[in-house]
Amino acid sequence: MPYTNTVLSRARARLTAENERKRAEYEDHLARAYALRPRLREIDRALRGTSAKLAMLIFRQDGDPQAELAQLRAENEALQNERQWILDEAELPEGYLDDSPVCTLCGGTGYQGSRMCECLRELCRQEQKRELSALLPTGRERFENFSLELYPDRFYPEYGTTARTLMQKNLAFCRKYAQEFRPGARSLLFSGATGLGKTFLSGCVARQVSENGYSVVYVTAGKLFSDFEAVKFERAEAGSLRDYRDCELLIVDDLGTEMTTEFVKASLYELVNTRLLERRTSLISTNLNEDNLEARYGGQIASRLLGGYRVIYFLGDDIRRKKK
Ligand SMILES: [Zn+2]
Repeated sequence: MPYTNTVLSRARARLTAENERKRAEYEDHLARAYALRPRLREIDRALRGTSAKLAMLIFRQDGDPQAELAQLRAENEALQNERQWILDEAELPEGYLDDSPVCTLCGGTGYQGSRMCECLRELCRQEQKRELSALLPTGRERFENFSLELYPDRFYPEYGTTARTLMQKNLAFCRKYAQEFRPGARSLLFSGATGLGKTFLSGCVARQVSENGYSVVYVTAGKLFSDFEAVKFERAEAGSLRDYRDCELLIVDDLGTEMTTEFVKASLYELVNTRLLERRTSLISTNLNEDNLEARYGGQIASRLLGGYRVIYFLGDDIRRKKK
């Protein structure tokens, strides 16, 4: 399923609304046309009559209906011609009485057989884009907006590199990762102190992967666990967590900033483990390092994250302070 439940139901609702709008517009145009040229209503009624008779004749078994068929067809054609003539003479705009569906490929249902039609797919893309844009903090999260100059050229002996060189590698890796993303790609863990661009870079990945047509859900750890709690305390239905389980890329930002209760630990384990088992990709960013992760969430979660995810380290000085 390339789109989450939330995105799909919003897209479907828009398609339904579009169908209804088109239908209402057609009925309004028809009423105006009838008021303008009352003869049109008679013609339409007569056309419905001849069409019904034609259908009946075609299915009739007895005798030879050829002569009758020919006469009906001629009547039908004459009515059509008169109708067109009236429409032309009344100078109604081209397509004014067009009652074709919003999409001729699928008849406005959104599906061609079991395949999603391009019209609904486009609405899903728009809805996902809107959803992500509403969630991402700055609206500027694109790889080309990532400024390496904010990272010091200073050498970090314990990492054997400068922050800028490391971030240059991280940027190149994430860009390639996002461009080549396929469901089931290796999960990532962004680890580093606050203010080093983890949120920004994960936002860049979110946007690119989403634009390539995959379902992406972006959530802060605080929101994620409060949603789990809402289900626990029956303030929300279990189905409201479905997007977190099903999406092709789940991005959890700022793990470690939430109030870490036993319930949070259990929920995190459940989520991380289920998504690893089902080969669904996650990107988690955290201000915790390996040791802090284990101390806070326990060995089981730490080993899942550090063993199952590719860890990307962030180095530098707090960018937020630098920008001010
Ligand atoms: Zn369609």
